Amino acid sequence: MDYLCAESAGVRVILCSNPKAQYLSYKEEIDAAISRVIDGGWYILGEEVKAFEEEFAKYIEVRHGIGVGSGTEALHLALVSCDIRKGDEVITVSHTAVATVSAIELAGAKPVFVDIEPDFYTIDPAKLEAAITQKTKAIIPVHIYGQSADMEPIFQIAKKHNLCLIEDCAQAHGATYKNKRVGSFGDMACFSFYPTKNLGALGDGGMVVTNDDTLAEKARLLREYGWARRFVSQISGWNTRLDEIQAAVLRVKLKYLDEDNAKRARIAELYRRGLDETPLVLPTVMEGVVHVYHLFVIRTRDRDELLEFLRKKGIGAAIHYPVPVHQQPAYAGVNGKLPQTECVAKEILSIPIYPELTKEDIYTVIDTIRDFVDKRVK
Ligand SMILES: *Cc1c(COP(=O)(O)O)cnc(C)c1O
Repeated sequence: MDYLCAESAGVRVILCSNPKAQYLSYKEEIDAAISRVIDGGWYILGEEVKAFEEEFAKYIEVRHGIGVGSGTEALHLALVSCDIRKGDEVITVSHTAVATVSAIELAGAKPVFVDIEPDFYTIDPAKLEAAITQKTKAIIPVHIYGQSADMEPIFQIAKKHNLCLIEDCAQAHGATYKNKRVGSFGDMACFSFYPTKNLGALGDGGMVVTNDDTLAEKARLLREYGWARRFVSQISGWNTRLDEIQAAVLRVKLKYLDEDNAKRARIAELYRRGLDETPLVLPTVMEGVVHVYHLFVIRTRDRDELLEFLRKKGIGAAIHYPVPVHQQPAYAGVNGKLPQTECVAKEILSIPIYPELTKEDIYTVIDTIRDFVDKRVK
């Protein structure tokens, strides 16, 4: 029985993430923002997008923000802005949303996968240099689950080999590494505003941020047909734009991002206290980082059984991600062995976490997991 079937059988369902609950938290302000845009009559790349780009860039503490259609497009745009093209190799991880890899292919380049550190699930800097070849042009570390990759050594390696560094921050809005926000380390950094992300729109959206004036200018041209002015293409671009309604919604939610991330951290703390004495592996936090818990991922050899047990009880646990990219049919044969990536994919489980999750639901999740563990031990 799936957890959605549990709902129809009368079991109250606890979702893994819940964008509707977030909308309801700020409903009045969001509704007003949407009406303002509709009444204003300007729907694409206008004042709301401009204001949101400035506000978000300020939040990340970088100079420029370029609003785009999605996180995938943010990565695609960043790669093309950095002159990545056919024949180039781009290093990233296989343990990520397939979007990271799609973007590399959209730019015409070849993805090259590096294994992850099993404690943090982020790219292993110790394995990075071995993957660099004459063709390598860029590295995309992914700040997965809300925690920064180990940016110091990654930054040094990128610098030493003269590689473009592009951060995938789609799961880490507001996370920090050594007191600096993720998104401020790379030549460019990319965010998604997919509804379930820590900062989520009511539709698709994304942003590229950068401190580099030249790269920012190029990205702005590329996102709208290469137009330097209307109907005159300076360079050949395409179209990936953030719309005014999403920007207006995101401006409302950005004001509450730190507060919402703090709520996620409190939930994580309750999970830690509640699950501390079980044999489950809980998230390890790297020294010097602030984790923003886009997901709370636990690890166990009994993952499949635990997942089914939770779903039957109406708890929407999920796997991020069940099949590593290099083992998916479309990418079969891209890389050799990635032992940590392959092992982790069999054992990880994301349990519900979102700012509006109630104490009652948190304790239900904890009790249900403990119940499973007790039954296993006996
Ligand atoms: C969500 C996500 C993306 C893609 O974002 P979209 O807005 O869905 O295109 C890219 N990378 C990672 C790590 C993500 O989690």
